Amino acid sequence: MKRFILPVKQTRAFLSSTTARLAESYLLIIMLMSIGFSLVLYNTSANQLGHQIPPHGLTQQASPNNDQGKPQDDNPALDHFFHQRIAEGRTALRFRLLYLNVGALLVGAVVSYYLARRSLRPIEQAMDAQVQFVSDASHELRTPLTAIKAVNEVALRNKKLSLSNAKNVITQNIDDVERLQALAEGLLMLAKQDKTKLTYSAVALQTIVGDAMTQIIPQASNKAITVNDEVANISVIGNKAALEQVLVILLDNAVAYSHPKTTITLQTRIKGKHVYLDIVDQGIGIRATDLPHIFSRFYRGDQSRSASEKTGYGLGLSIAQRIMLNHDGAITVHSVPGEGSTFTLKLSSAG
Ligand code: ADP
Repeated sequence: MKRFILPVKQTRAFLSSTTARLAESYLLIIMLMSIGFSLVLYNTSANQLGHQIPPHGLTQQASPNNDQGKPQDDNPALDHFFHQRIAEGRTALRFRLLYLNVGALLVGAVVSYYLARRSLRPIEQAMDAQVQFVSDASHELRTPLTAIKAVNEVALRNKKLSLSNAKNVITQNIDDVERLQALAEGLLMLAKQDKTKLTYSAVALQTIVGDAMTQIIPQASNKAITVNDEVANISVIGNKAALEQVLVILLDNAVAYSHPKTTITLQTRIKGKHVYLDIVDQGIGIRATDLPHIFSRFYRGDQSRSASEKTGYGLGLSIAQRIMLNHDGAITVHSVPGEGSTFTLKLSSAG
């Protein structure tokens, strides 16, 4: 599938400049803190050094004549010595704090860049996925749109277009529009699968299965396919509408990829806190080369294209998988080409 190289490059360029800006902000915070601490440290230490000068009188020169009760002068040499030592101490402190801040700047720059990259990585991945999704969707939309345009252009150029020809063109247009509608619904469904927006509660599995079967029975009857419901009376934790949709997708596929007059069976198994629901068909099966890809968006097995009348877009199983992951459950498949497939849903028991 053709990928959109340009938007990905632009996204990366945008992100790298965002990384730089975020790293700058982190570095600014680190440096403000480091300089702030240094100033406080300097002031406190400089004051402390100032207190090292002995009080007046202690630096007086010891004099044998000092016995007339008048105040004595400080010893200027000793005073000078103390002041010089204090000035040296303050200069040394200033240099140490300067080196410390230069070090903080260098280490901070590396740490800031690392933190900025780490913060932006999930956003980068989400954006890549978004770009890929839009690119895949546009690619899928282009094919039916091109077909519609071509059919209408040919009809328009035909000066002797009869009423029945025109009706054929309109019928084809309606078919294509219906397919586009299905694609748009599928894409919307994928985009809507937001775990946080669904409510989860205890739901009877038989109700979900029953409601899904009601939607599929007409298609199954058209192919004289029997659907056996052997689901046990168990409740699971989930969102009813979403789980029903998973079953409709799986049953729809089971009917579409099965030969007429075959059987589809739904069975349950309980293991610990989990309920396993198997949807077993006797259809065309899935080739080993297709199996790793069938849950990917827009993936369609070649065999299914030729053997089934279904004109899907390869979105059903990816929607089903997304719903199951939102339920902290799973969807797995076991298939033998020519014999049939078994899709298994793993759900949490409400019991
Ligand atoms: P679609 O059916 O629209 O192609 P899906 O995502 O539902 O898209 O299925 C993806 C592919 O998985 C199908 O194209 C088909 O090759 C394969 N598949 C799904 N279910 C079955 C099944 N029950 N039997 C055989 N093949 C199946």
